Amino acid sequence: MAQGIPDELLTNSDLIKELAEEAKDSALTRGVLMRLQETPNSSEVVSFAPFTLFPTPVPKAVFLQALAVQTHYNTLVDKISQDADFLQEALTSTIAVDDFTARLFKIHQQILKEGRSQSIVLGLNRSDYMLDQRENGTSSLKQIEINTIAASFGGLSSHTPGLHRHILEMASRLEESQRILDNNPAAGLAKAIAKVWELYGSEKAVIMFLVEEIQRNVFDQRYIEYELLKRNIHSIRRRFDDVFKTGSLDQDKRLFVDGKEVAVVYFRNGYMPQNYASEQSWDARLLMERSRAVKCPDISTHLAGTKKVQQVLARPGVLERFFPDQPQVVEQIRATFAGLYTLDMGPEGDQTVAMALAAPERFVLKPQREGGGNNIYGSELCQVLEQVKDSTERTAYILMDKIHPTPVRNYLVRQDSPLKISNCLSELGVFGAYIRYGKDMVMNECAGHLLRTKSSEHSDGGVAAGVAVLDNPLLF
Ligand code: ADP
Ligand code: MG
Ligand code: MG
Repeated sequence: MAQGIPDELLTNSDLIKELAEEAKDSALTRGVLMRLQETPNSSEVVSFAPFTLFPTPVPKAVFLQALAVQTHYNTLVDKISQDADFLQEALTSTIAVDDFTARLFKIHQQILKEGRSQSIVLGLNRSDYMLDQRENGTSSLKQIEINTIAASFGGLSSHTPGLHRHILEMASRLEESQRILDNNPAAGLAKAIAKVWELYGSEKAVIMFLVEEIQRNVFDQRYIEYELLKRNIHSIRRRFDDVFKTGSLDQDKRLFVDGKEVAVVYFRNGYMPQNYASEQSWDARLLMERSRAVKCPDISTHLAGTKKVQQVLARPGVLERFFPDQPQVVEQIRATFAGLYTLDMGPEGDQTVAMALAAPERFVLKPQREGGGNNIYGSELCQVLEQVKDSTERTAYILMDKIHPTPVRNYLVRQDSPLKISNCLSELGVFGAYIRYGKDMVMNECAGHLLRTKSSEHSDGGVAAGVAVLDNPLLF
């Protein structure tokens, strides 16, 4: 591909080997880091986070399209989170069979009943896309999903542009190196957190990163923490268990953890069932939700990011409900939707089952899960659908058109893994940051981007799941 890395460079194996070794040092010195799988909670010995040797060509027009639609997605997620009737309607069939979503929904209902104790809302999300590329040369941007909780890699992706520029400079590809954009989601996300901290209005209050038991990706989070510290805003890192043991609310529902008042709970955990090791974790989540601390996300915004909601949004007329007077916004958002199909009980769901069984290779079957590795493809899709098709079990899933990006050849550089050329597929993420204060949106921004790339052998899975690696768009 003329816009990309030329074949003569990709096939020069001596040079590639040399570049890869130098690239690892470059990644380490630039702080593109991850803890080791064997010692995920220690920084004594660490390694580089996995990355592609070269950036990946992305058409400028679709890249700009993804950035431009982000503030509308922010608004949409926020509107959904405030529309209790919509959430109820959209999720009823799902929560009847999906215990995890049901549990989240129960907290949401409890908060609605009690009344929200905080009118400041902070949303930090990441909308992910792939390019649907057809033989006639057209590329269209299709949303894979939107992550409204614990969207990661904003920190590390702030440091990968320098890495790819360095590699290209070593390879004497100056023209390409200049086509790599600056990117700083860490600053963009921190800016919104800092603004919310100010609005909360307590000098001594801290930001609490609600973190996982296993913290391999700590450095990604540290960059956001350091941006906050530049503004003299302090952060603490705590687990559900810490909150359960030392957390409490005062008479004004202010949240205190370890004696410190918490202005913002920034969830980097809590998005999958395994994150809630015991009832105590659920108690801690409820405590935080009930508190006056600003939750990022609050429970309703968390639910707005479910795949079932995504599918319902794609139904005719639903976007219009949220943007009644803005047909151009509706159009801009809808242009990024892939085909999404209900599996609810009834003739429409029956039709979805028949369509999927007739051509499973055209679709992806998705449960209400996050974190990669949960989707179902191909013959397994048929097996699962055959098993559940006649029962309400099927409503735990949605069906989606499979998106087909054109593979691009590249090298994935990862620790303990031999260097080999792979056919790669990329996924573009765009970070959104918004703040609502009562009824007013006081911030609504696009906070940067992320490109993740994986070998085409894998149909699923992100960086944390060990499948994808960090990348940068090479615009053309
Ligand atoms: P998760 O919340 O677990 O990240 P995703 O919907 O992002 O769930 O799916 C995980 C991965 O599966 C994506 O990163 C992508 O590689 C692949 N995938 C998901 N949906 C599609 C699709 N419609 N077409 C092609 N690949 C998909
Ligand atoms: Mg997700
Ligand atoms: Mg995903």
